[in-house]
Amino acid sequence: MPTSAQMQAYWMPFTANRDYKQAPRIVASAKGMYYYDEQGRAILDGTAGLWCVPAGHSHPKIVEAVQQAIATLDYAPAFQMGHPAAFEFAEQLIEYSGHKFGQVFYTNSGSEAVDTAMKMVLAYHRARGEAQRTRFIGRERAYHGVGFGGMSVGGLPANRKQFGPLLQGVDYLRHTALPENRFSKGLPQHGAELADDLERLIQLHDVSTIAAVIVEPVSGSAGVILPPAGYLQRLRQLCDQHGILLIFDEVITGFGRLTTPFASDYFGVTPDLMTTAKGLTNGVVPMGAVFSHPKIYQTLADSPAGIEFFHGYTYSGHPLACAAGLATLRVFKEEGILHHAAGMAAYWETALHSLKGLPHVADIRNLGLIGAIELETVPGKPGARAMAVYKKAFAEGVLIRTTGDIIALSPPLILDKSHIDVLFAKLHDILAHPEA
Ligand code: PMP
Repeated sequence: MPTSAQMQAYWMPFTANRDYKQAPRIVASAKGMYYYDEQGRAILDGTAGLWCVPAGHSHPKIVEAVQQAIATLDYAPAFQMGHPAAFEFAEQLIEYSGHKFGQVFYTNSGSEAVDTAMKMVLAYHRARGEAQRTRFIGRERAYHGVGFGGMSVGGLPANRKQFGPLLQGVDYLRHTALPENRFSKGLPQHGAELADDLERLIQLHDVSTIAAVIVEPVSGSAGVILPPAGYLQRLRQLCDQHGILLIFDEVITGFGRLTTPFASDYFGVTPDLMTTAKGLTNGVVPMGAVFSHPKIYQTLADSPAGIEFFHGYTYSGHPLACAAGLATLRVFKEEGILHHAAGMAAYWETALHSLKGLPHVADIRNLGLIGAIELETVPGKPGARAMAVYKKAFAEGVLIRTTGDIIALSPPLILDKSHIDVLFAKLHDILAHPEA
């Protein structure tokens, strides 16, 4: 356990420090589907860390690849030099995407990937003589990280309110939860109608000023908001019609969460730019990446200004991250991770929906190996009910995640039926005996 001086020194991200530090939860190691605390107690991971360990914790092949890489090349500046793994990884990522994209740009996180994609959009329009296209459209309840770009287009006001003024000219597609969609399995209904909200914004603003629309195909951090059937397709149509670029933020949905390589494969909609992180390296070494359509790179490469893209990071394409990423792709292939995940999805859905009817359960949502249980909020105490479930579950050896009163689930994709049984038996038990 940390000493009280250590507790004082560590300013934790996001966490409500006072509450947490009165009863800290510490994990000391991890393997496969489990975390272990300092006493060696196993905690079943229902959230893949923070949505980022699809191939399971401390996968031996990924560990070995990183060990080898660190002994060979510790660091190489990406500005004037390359190293073999950076090129090889980019090529393999394009192949993994089914060649739907032409280039990969490396960052160190999801937030940086989002800001990078937004800068690519602006540079692209400018190179085409459309410098007035500077307006971004986000979506209510979306999360796009903590950089000033991603924070500005993110649709969670609580994440923005300490830090304004933010990027100018941002607007948001409405999120409308329809009552008939509650407890529906898979995709909810009425997507095309909801996506027509983009037409409202096109009417509202001069369309020639709109640079891009950015959405999470499935909004994760806001509590697993699924796009209703037809939603993303309609957005794509409207963007094409009006010269607007479409960005999918696949930081959560990339690398198999929906049992396909990316959510864009699941929905059959290809964006112009796609941001990724988390599962890209199986969470082992921090890394993000922007995938882009060849027209973006080509336009910038052909630009008379002669500058492709004046942007980059000290650690872009870090050798350890590339090694971890290459090993992750290899594990995906050799161990048939996506195939296995697809085989688990129906069992996952049935187990999740078996919680319907328990006290205070207001909605259940699922897709691929993602799921959410929305609880009724105790008046005046938002988030308290889900947090009570979270604390009890952790104490009883299961890690879940909460956003407000929504419990979000996103296990490592290597789970089997016995893990699903344990996870939902535990949640059933806890939800059946609410504290209040
Ligand atoms: N976009 C999405 C969709 C995310 O879920 C996250 C992180 N949860 C981010 C961006 C930011 O990623 P990072 O925390 O790696 O900066």
